[in-house]
Amino acid sequence: MNPESGNDSMIRPELLSLTRAEMKELMAESFGEKAYRGDQVYDWIHKKGVTDPALMSNLSKKLREALASSCRAGTVMQVEKKVSAIDGTRKFLMGLSDGNVVESVLMQYSYGDSACVSSQVGCAMGCSFCASAIGGFVRNLSASEMLEEIYCMEKDSCRRIHSTVVMGTGEPLLNYEELLRFIRILSDPEGDCISQRNITVSTCGIVPAIYSLAEEGLQINLAVSLHAPNDRIRSTIMPVSRKYSISEILKACSYYFEKTGRRLTFEYSLIEGVNDSEEKAKELADILSGLNCLINLIPVNPVEERSYRQTGRQAVLRFKNVLEKRGRNVTIRREIGRDIDAACGQLRKKYMSRETV
Ligand code: SAH
Repeated sequence: MNPESGNDSMIRPELLSLTRAEMKELMAESFGEKAYRGDQVYDWIHKKGVTDPALMSNLSKKLREALASSCRAGTVMQVEKKVSAIDGTRKFLMGLSDGNVVESVLMQYSYGDSACVSSQVGCAMGCSFCASAIGGFVRNLSASEMLEEIYCMEKDSCRRIHSTVVMGTGEPLLNYEELLRFIRILSDPEGDCISQRNITVSTCGIVPAIYSLAEEGLQINLAVSLHAPNDRIRSTIMPVSRKYSISEILKACSYYFEKTGRRLTFEYSLIEGVNDSEEKAKELADILSGLNCLINLIPVNPVEERSYRQTGRQAVLRFKNVLEKRGRNVTIRREIGRDIDAACGQLRKKYMSRETV
């Protein structure tokens, strides 16, 4: 990370990261303006999609200049876009002010557009099948940067986004404060107004953070990347399992459901010969009994550097069948954007290796 931009963010507040109340406070305390100016700036950014203070035409010239010189807004830029010829999925590389890049994806569904956003630059979790793990962790994204991923994609498509999944690169629950700020601003009825019921956070199972999230009074959906029916197999593909056992994770998930009433999703990437036998399906059905949940089966997306192979279609259907016979709700994730490296971290990884050659 460029240290100068670190200093920059400390000195110059990021306008997009401020709630409406904080924006009003900033206007009064830092600029000697009436609080309603905060409403105006907030509306420009979150309702009208304008981040450049120079274009905020109902502010005085003096305030526009002051905002431009002492605050930051609109720091994320689209640097690359790939559009799937198969299904129209768009994958973006977003450039950050310190030279890092993150991936964001826009998927089209019958009910509306769904955005997948990154929460960190790189990832520390080290899941063995995931391309995001390869370069390691670089830094957390700010709420402002996550919001800009959404706003840049809305601008590109000229359409409102209907739902958002925090399932791009990074472990969102290890960037807790900024994640919550992002969710609260994104779902603000007086902002971009994406309903919390249409926001899903995916975690590899950071147990203490799941308990905290349950207390936040939010209505978001929680997805947990399980990928194994027992700790022995999980520890061979997900290092985080050394810290939190499956039984601890499931207990935290029950608590989340109790507190929020939101149904849980368990993601299960099927890897040939690792976690995809019918035996494993039975074990999975057993450990999830009693939980109101959906199991989302994902044929693993092969990553060049790894030797993992995707479970074949027939075996996926058999796995699903075993779960359903035991009364579990199961979906198979539609493969999207296969022709554009849409698996976690693949596009960024390619971009980074191009940059370093
Ligand atoms: N850290 C969070 C969110 C980011 S990963 C988490 O672990 O949930 C988003 C989802 O994609 C996770 O379920 C992750 O395990 C899965 N994933 C990553 N690489 C994959 C691949 N190559 N094939 C299939 N699923 C993958």
